[in-house]
Amino acid sequence: MEKFERIPDIFASQVFNEDIMRERLPKDVYKSLLNTIANGKEIDATIADVVAGAMKDWATEHGATHFTHWFQPLTGVTAEKHDAFLSPVDHGKAIMEFSGKELIKGEPDASSFPSGGLRATFEARGYTAWDPASYAFIKDGSLYIPTAFCSYGGEALDTKTPLLRSMDAINSASLRILRLFGDDTTRRVLSTVGAEQEYFLVDAEDFKARRDLFYCGRTLFGAPAIKGQELEDHYFGTLPARVSAFMKELDTELWKLGICSKTKHNEAAPAQHELAPIFTTTNIAVDQNLLTMEFMRKLAPKFGMECLLAEKPFEGINGSGKHNNWSLATDSGKNLLKPGKNPADNKQFMLFLAAVVRAVDDYQDLLRISAATAGNDCRLGGHEAPPSIISIFLGEELDTIIKSMIEGSSYSKRDTRYMSLGVKSVPTIRQDTTDRNRTSPFAFTGNKFEFRMVGSSQNIALSNIVLNTAVAEALSDFADRLEETIDFRGELDKIITDTFRAHSRILFAGNSYSKEWEEEAKARGLSNFRTSPEAYAHFTDEKNVKLFGKFGVMSETEMRSRREIFFEGYRKIKNIEARTMLEMTIRDIIPAVSRYIGVLSDSVNAKLNVSKTINVSAERDIIEKLSDLLASTYEAYTALERVEKTALTKADEDAAFYYKDSVIPKMEALRRLVDSMEVLCAREYWPMPTYGDITFRI
Ligand code: ADP
Ligand code: MG
Repeated sequence: MEKFERIPDIFASQVFNEDIMRERLPKDVYKSLLNTIANGKEIDATIADVVAGAMKDWATEHGATHFTHWFQPLTGVTAEKHDAFLSPVDHGKAIMEFSGKELIKGEPDASSFPSGGLRATFEARGYTAWDPASYAFIKDGSLYIPTAFCSYGGEALDTKTPLLRSMDAINSASLRILRLFGDDTTRRVLSTVGAEQEYFLVDAEDFKARRDLFYCGRTLFGAPAIKGQELEDHYFGTLPARVSAFMKELDTELWKLGICSKTKHNEAAPAQHELAPIFTTTNIAVDQNLLTMEFMRKLAPKFGMECLLAEKPFEGINGSGKHNNWSLATDSGKNLLKPGKNPADNKQFMLFLAAVVRAVDDYQDLLRISAATAGNDCRLGGHEAPPSIISIFLGEELDTIIKSMIEGSSYSKRDTRYMSLGVKSVPTIRQDTTDRNRTSPFAFTGNKFEFRMVGSSQNIALSNIVLNTAVAEALSDFADRLEETIDFRGELDKIITDTFRAHSRILFAGNSYSKEWEEEAKARGLSNFRTSPEAYAHFTDEKNVKLFGKFGVMSETEMRSRREIFFEGYRKIKNIEARTMLEMTIRDIIPAVSRYIGVLSDSVNAKLNVSKTINVSAERDIIEKLSDLLASTYEAYTALERVEKTALTKADEDAAFYYKDSVIPKMEALRRLVDSMEVLCAREYWPMPTYGDITFRI
């Protein structure tokens, strides 16, 4: 019989969390560490040794032999280097050792990580520093210590450092506001995040049989399958057995690491699925999302599958995103974006709401950049994901309140509505005060905002760095005004109304996918960066440098380095994709089609040998069509090869724009021709699994 595991028994069993700390640390050390975790207080060096010792004992009892500083360099993925707890002693023996120094600080050789020109080659040294607020955990026999990563000169070389800084910024600004409202008990305000993760599962054999999948994680060719997602039968559909088994193991592994994986279901596209965890503090949510992606990739092969996290693995069916649900909470768990029964009278909520509206409007460009990757360019703007225009959906109730505020008219709360399904045995349901809007890139969903633009493969840190810092700026400006005034209520109303009036252009309740919205957004003066390079170019705009500088989140140098890394990453991805297309075309596709034409030609000759008057029109017709396409394909191949060569001569930023303007159109052209040949070529000659094979195999 299958062993039955209770969730509470396995949950967080591999995590050095507060329970374990309380059990294993002397009381004063435990208290001091807790103070560091809860209030962001600096870690006391003397307690580090004690904590390290306890961590090592706990880890080795759980079978760990190594420890690693785990960090998030600017590659988009995580990095780790494992050291054994081993330390030699006399008589050729060894003991298990782990010091406070090793816990607090690591010195990885940083020269092989992207630095965007931050690190001179003679400055190869880098440091990792323990993030006590994200619990250490055991995985694959190693104790993982979440860390921040910086250069020899102290510049952040990772995504976590600016994230932690932005959390400090929003904490300070929010506390100032709370104090003004008479709250003097809250000690910390935290931004919270729940990241819903979409992904595809495909058969491992199909994955191996396509070079575009295993080099690029997405297909670069492929005619549409006969059946796509038009029957709408996949979304929330029954889970295939193999997928269900995978999800079960994934949940178990994540639970062991204390990750609250909560919801799983089939998504809209065939072979597409989603996992949603329960939200937590932002830095932990980022760490956990990275681990979730890692486990998805790692576990799929156990079930004969591969997990695709790319934003657009298949043309013509939905791609994958990540919904970054974001809110603010006090240390006692109060959600600051909860409107309460009567939002119009809840001025504190209205002020926080105004701050978010102002922040998103002022920093549309930064939010867009945080979701800008080569992969996500293939997804945004289709009829499946938000366009490249940022706007906010607040819902009917808040829209009405804001409208009446701006117009100075009175607002009367809508009566609660109930719905009866007309079946006596089914209970009456209370209707929400607003419907949802699935097309909005940034939607208020009751007590949090859902940023839906982020790509499925991305690290969500930057989106949250932008949100935290931009909202911190609005809140601290509000606090400046409110701390000065002698008429608190009057000034408060004025700030809220002024802010909504000044930023109403960012509010949009209609269909964000529509052509009309694109035009209206333009008339409203909203920015619309259709592609990543266009967005990246604005990262270091003066207002953005000022924002991050003011709150110490990123220095101008750190921003310039990131800007370079954005362009560099884009260029490299496009370069790999173009070369993959070239290789597949010349080595797989052209030979296959040519072979099939040969077979048809042999058949024509054989038939004509039987009789000169025999009908060979079918073969002839196909031969002609395929031969024309083949010749055009070769031309398109040569054209792509030529621009790809030119791209190589350009530096990162120029190269990125050149890929966008000159290489991508050639890739598109080549693809169209190859896809036309695919539908004419006999199945047995086509050199790779088709869309139909891949998306319906599991
Ligand atoms: P919805 O029905 O709007 O999708 P869910 O309750 O299913 O809402 O939540 C979606 C995601 O949002 C989950 O990951 C959830 O944990 C997260 N979430 C809920 N409340 C918050 C919050 N206050 N802050 C951040 N994320 C949240
Ligand atoms: Mg969702």
